[in-house]
Amino acid sequence: MSDKPIILITDDIKANRLALKKLLRSVDAEIIEAESGNETLSKALVSSRLALILLDVQMPEMDGFEVAELLREEDRTQFVPIIFVTGMDRNDIYRQKGYSVGAVDYLYKPVDPDILLSKVNVFLDLWRMRSELEHEIELRIDAEMQIQHMAYHDALTCLPNRRKLYENLTEAMHRCDRYENKLALLFLDLDGFKRINDTLGHNFGDEVLLQMAGRYQSLIRNTDSLARFGGDEFVILLTDINNTESLVSKMQEILEVTHAPVDLENNQVSLGVSIGAAYYPDHGNSLEELVSHADKAMYQAKNEGKNTFRIYSVEMDDTVSEQLSIEKHLANALINEEFSLVYQPIVSLPDKQVVAVEVLLRWNNPEIGFVGPDVFIPIAEEMGEINSIGSWVLHKACKQLAYWNKHLNVNLRMCVNVSTVQFNDPEQRLLRDVKEILSQGEIHASQLELEITEGLLIRQNNNLSSQLNQLVNLGVALAIDDFGTGYSSLSYLKKYPISTLKIDRSFVMDIPNDEEDCVLVKAIVAMSHGLGLKVIAEGIEDEKQLTFLSLLNCNFGQGYYFSKPLCATDLDVFIQQHPVCHNDVVEVKKLLTGSV
Ligand code: C2E
Ligand code: MG
Ligand code: MG
Repeated sequence: MSDKPIILITDDIKANRLALKKLLRSVDAEIIEAESGNETLSKALVSSRLALILLDVQMPEMDGFEVAELLREEDRTQFVPIIFVTGMDRNDIYRQKGYSVGAVDYLYKPVDPDILLSKVNVFLDLWRMRSELEHEIELRIDAEMQIQHMAYHDALTCLPNRRKLYENLTEAMHRCDRYENKLALLFLDLDGFKRINDTLGHNFGDEVLLQMAGRYQSLIRNTDSLARFGGDEFVILLTDINNTESLVSKMQEILEVTHAPVDLENNQVSLGVSIGAAYYPDHGNSLEELVSHADKAMYQAKNEGKNTFRIYSVEMDDTVSEQLSIEKHLANALINEEFSLVYQPIVSLPDKQVVAVEVLLRWNNPEIGFVGPDVFIPIAEEMGEINSIGSWVLHKACKQLAYWNKHLNVNLRMCVNVSTVQFNDPEQRLLRDVKEILSQGEIHASQLELEITEGLLIRQNNNLSSQLNQLVNLGVALAIDDFGTGYSSLSYLKKYPISTLKIDRSFVMDIPNDEEDCVLVKAIVAMSHGLGLKVIAEGIEDEKQLTFLSLLNCNFGQGYYFSKPLCATDLDVFIQQHPVCHNDVVEVKKLLTGSV
């Protein structure tokens, strides 16, 4: 599209128009014509680049003066310069009338070409300067609007940000006060988003956030609002919520849309979301209180299994502050040397020899006291701390094993629990740690067994097979911990290089009284042996359980019946007092030291 200025020539006589047009040949403008007052008005009103009108005075129907008056009345044309070009005799009255209706000049025909050209060029220059100025102003307004938008919106999803949310929330609270209705604030936090970002990359992470933003937006009404609160957190404001059923059904919809898979290139993942809800005014009178209570309810949903929702209640205050306090202290636990290790013997069932120990992590914080691994390990996983904690456990446990290798005449296996998250570490620290430990030559690879969970093998992870194979190729054994609790698919037992299954304590607990458990344990042992896998039964607490398992030819047992987890020095004593595996001690020592 042309951006040249336009000159409109109005004359009822075609020859006059052509003569003027010819005179203006050299100017850098687009020339258009009109043969009447009406045509002038309609062309002038639609042309956004009109820089000048050359207007005849004497025309049938509407004369030039009337046309000029009407042009001055319209916003769009009131400042367009008009030069009257008339063939009438020189007459000061008409000339004055021309100026009074808004003309910038009044010329008589025949027009001196040079004078006309120079006048026209002045007005064209003025027009150009004006449009540059207007353009500049537009750019500034755009930039200001953009800055304004950026200050109130999230750059990735374009959703309102926290600041805008607070403004919306304040307004919504005022409206609630005025009309005495309720509003619900939903706090959403995606489950396991950090892991996705770490393993599949930030592009995938961004795609997940964008898709979720679109899905949530499609669930809410015009009067509701959605904001991105931070990282993987969204907030939804639902106005006019008057019963819990509609709130619950909305939260269920959110869970469903979140769960639909996200695709990017060759990867596909399904996510969960934890949702906390709080009502205004019931659950908080101020903006901060309402947000904080919805956040607490969200934490509660996370704690109680994730991918679910909770509505705020006063009792939540304690649990959430406890969780936050655990997070705060856990971040420094390693540096402050608050962790210790205990070892629980694993015995071979026919001869009751101690063949292995499982290392279990303990955490004692001076302020919050002892916290069990079942509580803090999932939190460390969510925080990403588990990689460094896991690395510390592995090094420390292997150092302990090296000590026993050197000072006791036994061949023990060290079973180390490894979190699923450790296999998602882009730096593959676990593999590096194992290689480093083995290269020190103080323990033999056959003495190390890593306990992993079924969940790891079920969830897709691009290089899991490669990581597991590399570990097994180094000579390390892999065991499936808590077997039977997770999933029904067993195909992974053939797919991955597993050597041992640990039957979960929940199946062992009620044998031999519970018939179903007896059948299950029997089946697990038979299947494992069929696949050439060894079986360890966890949580053996009494003689009857032991007898039942021994009759099934279960290979190994672990539990309070034999020993609770012991600190290293107590385990030294335990080993002195119980039969311990000496098989291959000489071989191991020879391999490690290069001499008998
Ligand atoms: P797990 O690997 O299945 O460990 C066995 C748990 O059962 C241990 O609890 C142990 O003390 C307990 N236990 C053993 N025998 C008996 C018994 O006869 N009766 C009863 N009632 N309990 C028994 P603990 O130490 O509390 O560990 C709980 C879980 O925490 C572990 O389950 C493991 O999943 C995780 N965990 C512990 N240490 C680590 C670690 O260093 N790294 C990782 N990633 N996870 C760990
Ligand atoms: Mg274990
Ligand atoms: Mg277990």
